[in-house]
Amino acid sequence: MNRRTLLRGVVGTGVLLTTGAGSPGRAHARGIVLPVRSCADWGARPASQAITVVPRRPVRILVHHTASDNVEDYSLDAACAQARWIQHVHMDQNGWLDSGQHFTNSRGGYLLEGRHQSLDALRAGDHMIQGAHCPGQNEAAIGIENEGTYVDAEPPTPQWETLVSFCVYACDQYGISPREIFGHRDFYADTVCPGDRFYAMLPRLRREVAAVLG
Ligand SMILES: [Zn+2]
Repeated sequence: MNRRTLLRGVVGTGVLLTTGAGSPGRAHARGIVLPVRSCADWGARPASQAITVVPRRPVRILVHHTASDNVEDYSLDAACAQARWIQHVHMDQNGWLDSGQHFTNSRGGYLLEGRHQSLDALRAGDHMIQGAHCPGQNEAAIGIENEGTYVDAEPPTPQWETLVSFCVYACDQYGISPREIFGHRDFYADTVCPGDRFYAMLPRLRREVAAVLG
């Protein structure tokens, strides 16, 4: 299968997540429409072992950067290639069963499913998938990888806007407080992730998410 064949399914908007569609009686954020490309959309390999379902809601969100190049290609093709590259590294170099993170956010602001079944879990809003993105947090925190290196650069606007929308949706679905949005380094001492510049923007991220959630 060549790359073009592999990517033939990657058209349109993917799965559309919309806030306000959940159980009645909950205070839902309005107006967020968030397209997500599933593992099938971006041509993920199958997981090498069974995925572990954690039968409870995550309690926080951890923000990561991929520490890869700050590419200028903001296309969907580039986003899908990035997701495949991460999966290869995590499976072939780290020896993990699948991508470690639950979701991936490209420089162009395309949101993609990371580990298989993470998208269904998020849409259900009552359980999570065991990740491999931060020791001690893999059954408690949703991990989102943001493409790029943000030690001394800030994420591009489309990527930032998708991150805000994703956090709004995830907080809404799982009942997570915006105060529970953290950087990887907050829970793991041996990393600079998500980079100093991005880390310094996390208070703003919490504020923007809280403003939408109301
Ligand atoms: Zn990280």
